[in-house]
Order: sequence, then structure tokens, then C-alpha cells
Amino acid sequence: MKRAYNFNAGPAALPEAVLAKAQEEFLNINGSGMSVMEISHRSKDFESIINKAKSLLIELMDIPEDYDVLFLQGGASLQFSMIPMNLLPEGKTASYVLTGSWSEKALKEAEKVGTCEVAASAKETNYSTIPALDELNVAENAAYLHITSNNTIFGTQWKDYPETVEVPVIADMSSDILSKKIDVSKFGLIYAGAQKNLGPSGVTVVIIRKDLIQKNAGLPTMLSFQTHADNDSLYNTPPTMSIYLLSLVLQWVKDLGGLEEIERLNEQKAALLYNTIDESNGFYKGHARPDSRSYMNVTFTLKNEDLTKQFLAEAKEAGFVGLNGHRSVGGCRASIYNAVPLVHCEELASFMKKFQAAHTRKTSEQTV
Ligand SMILES: *Cc1c(COP(=O)(O)O)cnc(C)c1O
Repeated sequence: MKRAYNFNAGPAALPEAVLAKAQEEFLNINGSGMSVMEISHRSKDFESIINKAKSLLIELMDIPEDYDVLFLQGGASLQFSMIPMNLLPEGKTASYVLTGSWSEKALKEAEKVGTCEVAASAKETNYSTIPALDELNVAENAAYLHITSNNTIFGTQWKDYPETVEVPVIADMSSDILSKKIDVSKFGLIYAGAQKNLGPSGVTVVIIRKDLIQKNAGLPTMLSFQTHADNDSLYNTPPTMSIYLLSLVLQWVKDLGGLEEIERLNEQKAALLYNTIDESNGFYKGHARPDSRSYMNVTFTLKNEDLTKQFLAEAKEAGFVGLNGHRSVGGCRASIYNAVPLVHCEELASFMKKFQAAHTRKTSEQTV
């Protein structure tokens, strides 16, 4: 069976080796005679799976001891609410940097909970840039500063992160967690829905500095970080299958050589596509300003909408999946997360060159 050239934005490609391993163990996990979906979340077998996921993430991301790792549900979208509910007390302000649709949504939810301010916005550039660090206006009494480290829809990514001394930086890393080495100690909280770089949908990873986990008596039990921290993410039934697959993906990253190797591969993959865009004499136009380009989501358009449509139709015909831009912005987007193999990016770059050559030939014939 031939696997698709999968450039989906999320849920996205998973490593083939992970899927094969899951298939091998599907009916019988760890000699139990049961599928991982059929065992108790309080069993020894599941305990070892969730512990392995946690310890592998700590190892791969080099997470310091004063941080806790939580596996929650509700997606990154529920974190848009849980974060202000837990971390934005009355009398304080939450500062948000707007770099795309997801940060807009995060701000909108936080505004329902408390006082918020925009620290900087890239809206004027149609979200093609990341604001400079010295342009951030963090509120005087800020409870935290929220950023979206990679903007999945517009295709931009932070290269350096804000360094605030007192104010915890909170990052939505849904679409670039585990794609490169980062210094976790620069953040108060990192969160990510799993379905881009970590595994299937259903589980959300929250990495939180322990001093930020505080009793908040007024909160519904399930919406309090403390509940999940106190119960090792087992207060209620967690998404067992998703956590199992997450553990396999983390093992795959480790076997590959960890984040240094992943980062090297991701740079190579992104360079293939951006070079194709840059060397196309304007046939392909990248959306992001070069210094703000994402290594995970490559966004571009062609000369006009008809040509973009033709490109997408022919790409689909040739077996490329998921290249349509997000419905809110149009154009094309290639999501090249960790699990997308280098050869698939080579195939796409070569398809783009062939399409350009064929089309350029056609128009020059027409003008003769
Ligand atoms: C996909 C995505 C989300 C939404 O994630 P859900 O798990 O569907 O709630 C939020 N933020 C970013 C940056 C994303 O890429």
C-alpha cells in the first residue's frame, strides 16, 4: 500500500512506524490479551504507558524539575479559557500578542474571564510578520504574557521568545512543540493540542511551572490545573488511546535522535519549499515575510486565484493531500510537521517546479 503525501494541517501525518507499532499491539497490549482501549486507566499497564509518555517528554524537551506535565482534554481551545480562569486574578491584566487567528481566539476567551490588553499586533501586515521583541507593550500589572509560537494558518513563527523577568510567558505551541530545541525555563506555561506534532487528537499537553498551580476554590473541579496536577492527570478517565499513541510518537522522536535531529530535518524540509518559492521568479509568492517564516506551515499563493485553483487541482491529482490554505485565508499551505518525511517535501518541491515550467511554457506559447 502506498502512503499519501500528507500535508494536512491537523490532524496531520503520523510517523508510519508509529502506526505500524500500534497496529501490531492493537489487539494485545503488553501481553494482556486486551487492546489499550479496553484496559482500566488505573491498571499497571496503563500506568506504565502514561508514565512513559511523561518521562519521554521531560527527557526530550529537557523540562526542568520545577515544572509539571499534564495530559488534559478539550484541545488547545479549552486552554484559551482555562489559562485565564486559573492565572488571571482580579486586579491584574493579561497581555496578548496577536499574530493570527488562534491568538485572536485566545484573547477573545480571556476577555470573558478578566482584563486583557494587546501587547502587540501583526494584524496590519495581514499576519505576515512576528512583532519585534522590543515592540511588546506588556501591561504594568500583567499576570502573564501570551504568545502563539507558530501561527498555523498564516505560516509565521517566533524565532526568539520574549524575556520578561517577572511576568510568566505563556505559549500556545500547538503547531511547533517538539519541532526544535527550546528553553522551557523561559516559559511559565506551554500548551499544545496533540494532533499536529505529538500524536492524534484527544489529548492536550500542558507544561506548567509548579508555582503557577494554585488553589482556586471558585473554579469547577475539571477546569482547575490543580485538580489534574494533584491526580497525575488521572482525576477522571483520560483519553487512553491518544496518550498511548503520544508515547509511541515520543519514542519515535527519541529513536530518531531527539530534538536536534528533528530540528535539522525540519530546517531541511522547510528550505526545500521556501527555496522553490524564492527561486520561482515570483511565480509562487510566500505569505510570511522571510524573517518570520514558519518551519511547520509553508503558506503561499500563485499569481491569481485561477492559477492557484489549477495548482491545487493538479497537485491533488498527483497525490498531494491537504495543500489548500485554511478556509479563512485561501491560497496554499503545506504543513510539514515532524512526521512528514523529507522525501515527501522533495516530491512536492519537484511538483511545484514542474507545474511552474509547464505553465510558463504554456503562457509563452500563447504570447508568440
Ligand atoms: C490547531 C490549533 C489550535 C486549536 O487546537 P484544538 O486542539 O483543535 O483546540 C490552537 N492553536 C494553534 C496554534 C493551533 O495550531
